[in-house]
Amino acid sequence: MEYFLTEQQKTIKGLARRIAEERILPVRAELDETEEFPWGVIKDLADSDMFRVFIPEEYEGLGGGCFELCLVIEELSRVCSGIAVSYAASALGPLTLLEYGTEAQKQKYLPDIASGKKLTAFALTEATAGSDASAIRTTAERVGGGYVLNGTKQFITNGGEAELYTVIVLTDKTRGARGASAFLVEKDTPGFSFGKKERKMGIRASSTRELIFRNCLVPEENMIGKPGMGFIMTMKLLDRSRPGIGAQAVGLAQGALEAAVDYTRQRIQFGQPLISLPVVQDILADMAIRVEAARALVYAAARTIDSGAKSFTEESAMAKVFASDTAMKVTTDAVQVCGGAGYMRDYPVEKMMRDAKITQIYEGSNQVLRNAIAFELRKRKARRE
Ligand SMILES: Cc1cc2nc3c(=O)[nH]c(=O)nc-3n(C[C@H](O)[C@H](O)[C@H](O)COP(=O)(O)OP(=O)(O)OC[C@H]3O[C@@H](n4cnc5c(N)ncnc54)[C@H](O)[C@@H]3O)c2cc1C
Repeated sequence: MEYFLTEQQKTIKGLARRIAEERILPVRAELDETEEFPWGVIKDLADSDMFRVFIPEEYEGLGGGCFELCLVIEELSRVCSGIAVSYAASALGPLTLLEYGTEAQKQKYLPDIASGKKLTAFALTEATAGSDASAIRTTAERVGGGYVLNGTKQFITNGGEAELYTVIVLTDKTRGARGASAFLVEKDTPGFSFGKKERKMGIRASSTRELIFRNCLVPEENMIGKPGMGFIMTMKLLDRSRPGIGAQAVGLAQGALEAAVDYTRQRIQFGQPLISLPVVQDILADMAIRVEAARALVYAAARTIDSGAKSFTEESAMAKVFASDTAMKVTTDAVQVCGGAGYMRDYPVEKMMRDAKITQIYEGSNQVLRNAIAFELRKRKARRE
């Protein structure tokens, strides 16, 4: 399918593919096994200016948008979505800062994010607040010159590895979601530490960890936006970031499709390659159709966002849901057509199947996002009546 990429977009995509094949491919199985954070690859991505892609030019970035970011995430995920998510989370971290930060905050942090010197993370989820993000309990109490944070965040990607965290907390406990605010917290701030590192089914090269705040004093100038805006900023941020999860899903589905085609071409049963069997051809064709449809939807959502559209909740949710369901289906089918070999750790498709599952869960589970899409449909219908 032709997606009419600009020369710059083709260059970014080509570079991301090269890093994936030359740097990620040789280490993906080992890092999946050891659950080690991919610092070597992160350095390669930084040296190749990949962290500049999503930062505006005035802050030493390349000025790309959601679409360029999706191209990079897709290419990295085609080889290893566990490593890709560490990169993607570092794009999620500064999104609130980019949208709502002051000029001083942007000048202070964005150049180091663009160079890859500072990896970032975004922290919303807590033990009591998953799909219901409004149930967060971490507080920030106003004191002279700043805010004191107390509470624990859970399941935070890049936790313990990132230098800079965007953290959503309650500055007014009495107002629920309307009392939430966003803060930038640096890793070495006293009172900020890291708890349990999760052991996961998939994306095992990524770090998923608790963030613990115990009387952690954060300067007032680290608040992003205004007090009480935290929840609304988060909802808007997630609308913007979900095509990135879609791109992760498309990349890993593409990787699984390619692995399945390679395997069925060389595997001989009943005196012929498996790919000669009509049933196998049907499965492969359906996989290819789904991957292309998911890619088209993700690209369309990303381009809608970059066009400056005001609202894109529906497009963004549709892209994430369809692409992640596609990744789960396609990776499962890839294991199926590879048979027993596909089930073994020596082949990449079992890892891809494990990696695919999370794309249906995080940044809004697919059930919750289907609710959101239905809500938008009802609103639209009500407007027509
Ligand atoms: C590997 C990993 C990385 C993560 N990274 C981050 C991160 O960097 N930052 C961060 O803030 N969070 C992160 N998360 C958290 C993630 O976004 C949440 O896990 C996710 O939003 C779901 O919340 P939950 O796990 O509490 O599930 P729950 O909310 O308990 O949901 C459990 C099930 O119930 C369903 N459900 C819940 N409510 C509804 C509803 N209203 N209608 C229909 N079905 C419903 C869900 O779809 C799901 O199937 C991460 C999670 C994981 C596992």
